[in-house]
Amino acid sequence: MCHYFYTHIKYGIASWEAYKEVNSLFAQVADMHIENGDIVWIQDYQLMLLPALIRDGNKDVSIGYFHHIPFPSYELFRILPERKEILDGLLGADLIGFHTADYMRHFMSTAERVMDTKFMLDETRYNNRIVHVDAFPMGINYEKYSAAPLKVAPQKLSSEWKMKFGERKIIISVDRLDYSKGILHRLKAFNRFLAEHPEYHEKVSLVMIVVPSRDKVGAYADLKMKINEKIGMINGKYSNLNWTPIHYFYHSFSFERLVAFYNVADIALVSPLRDGMNLVAKEYIAVKRKNLGILILSEMAGAAQELRDAIIVNPNDVDGMKDAILKALEMPADEQLKRMKRMQKIVSSQTVQKWATDYIDELLSLKKQNEKNKTKLITDVNKQIIVSEYKRSHKRLIILDYDGTLSPFYNNPEEAAPSLQLTQIIKGLLADKRNCIAISSGRDQDTLSGWFGEYPIILAAEHGAFVRDNGVWRKNLEDRSWSREIVDIILKVTDKTPGSFLEEKKTALVWHFRNVDPWVAALREQQLFNMLGDKCAREGLHIMKGNKIIEIKQVGCDKGYVAKQLLLKEDFDFMLAIGDDTTDEDMFREMPKDSYTIKVGEMSDAARFYLKNQHEVLPLLNLFLSD
Ligand code: UDP
Repeated sequence: MCHYFYTHIKYGIASWEAYKEVNSLFAQVADMHIENGDIVWIQDYQLMLLPALIRDGNKDVSIGYFHHIPFPSYELFRILPERKEILDGLLGADLIGFHTADYMRHFMSTAERVMDTKFMLDETRYNNRIVHVDAFPMGINYEKYSAAPLKVAPQKLSSEWKMKFGERKIIISVDRLDYSKGILHRLKAFNRFLAEHPEYHEKVSLVMIVVPSRDKVGAYADLKMKINEKIGMINGKYSNLNWTPIHYFYHSFSFERLVAFYNVADIALVSPLRDGMNLVAKEYIAVKRKNLGILILSEMAGAAQELRDAIIVNPNDVDGMKDAILKALEMPADEQLKRMKRMQKIVSSQTVQKWATDYIDELLSLKKQNEKNKTKLITDVNKQIIVSEYKRSHKRLIILDYDGTLSPFYNNPEEAAPSLQLTQIIKGLLADKRNCIAISSGRDQDTLSGWFGEYPIILAAEHGAFVRDNGVWRKNLEDRSWSREIVDIILKVTDKTPGSFLEEKKTALVWHFRNVDPWVAALREQQLFNMLGDKCAREGLHIMKGNKIIEIKQVGCDKGYVAKQLLLKEDFDFMLAIGDDTTDEDMFREMPKDSYTIKVGEMSDAARFYLKNQHEVLPLLNLFLSD
């Protein structure tokens, strides 16, 4: 699937069970060896569940994962029934690495859509950790390959083969037996080249090394047979006593022999249909050093992003490949050297050692960041301290946000009515005369009155535009009629954006996009900002982003203003504010330094602590009611 061979995917619950079992066996064995403070680096797609399994082992470790093959577009990945489990497994890592920015982009859009995580550039928060995604193009051991052709054995082999081939040009290709490698397409292109360019008969040979791999498996056995047939057909058609167009080796080569082959090859034809990186292309460049040589490289290989001085081909375009072979055979020496020099520079600097060092450096810096953030997570000890301070205090102010704090989010906002547990907690808190309780919400007056009207609680509606204290509503902002122009723009965008809707409040317009595809949501959000920015400024309105909403409201009233007003009411000796949204940050900032400010769901610079998720809010409040 990762190589876009949709038709080769075979579903079977047994395979998935086996995959899970292998991952958990790895986790069990790894657990015996891993100690706190270790770095664990997991390699490749066979172990996509392992990052989360190791994370669940609860050891204090940094976990990296590297995906050595392509990561497909969301459109393809989504077909997997197990897509959620796999992504959850991967997101257990602190750093997820890919060979190219394209694979990284595909992964991020897949995670956003399937797991509903939001990426800010290259990072997201998942289960209260920062997960970072990055591209690290893997290189080779340059020293090893560039020094090898000077060693005795490869040198001897190179001269033998040069003697054997004489003036004849040599094109080589080296692959594992795999349908992603485009071997049949390559043979087709070479066949067409020979058909159209008889002047090159006897002047060029293709030396094809195919390393046996999984050839007992149906699709591979079939491929092997087709390769045999195609080579038989071409050689049967063109060869003579002096010339064999294709030399085919179906076995692996020792390092010395492989280096000698790279060394004598005039052209390397590397044309996979899909390849995470492709190291053969880089090894060929390294072995060539400053000598003549041409690389023909598929644009579908990760290596093509770096080796732009290769002749880049689309492996599905047989004519284009045929032309590339001709271009390579006719390329002047100075041009070859120029291109080779530039590619040498890349392959010699972006080595496998640098790849590993860059990766580990990034993982370590993330470790520091995550350690810093960990201190903000509210612990049981913190909770005990807060509760004992609460118990000791005489005048308490507790300000609570509603949606995402006292109630979980629902697709339809009307469904978020207070639960029985919540009303009991509110009643319990209100029963203590030392408590001043306020709900500070973006909701409108009617909704808050409907839910909490009967209780002696302070209600701040529409982010403080209306405040009810002692049972009387006070207006901090005038109602306003919204300009038709602004409403029409939002309605037009709403029409084009299935799942979104506009809420018209007395003092604010709110465009909700909780149920919209993340890519479309990001696009529409930006478009609305661009379209409305000037108009809002002209009308003295503030436009801001919230939790899957855009809110347009009058300047001068926010949750910070509400907090400030409440703090003036009395001389409080215990102050607590809890909220989950960006609008709650204003409230946190207004609270005194020694008060308890708690962000729900994620850490925040403005709040002292954070809770992992909304489910932890009511149990925390419940602690105040215990004896
Ligand atoms: N290779 C090898 N023996 C051989 C032919 C190739 O060890 O007979 C090596 C080659 O040097 C390269 C690797 O196999 O390092 C192939 O890596 P690549 O990224 O090109 O393709 P993959 O097989 O990983 O998809």
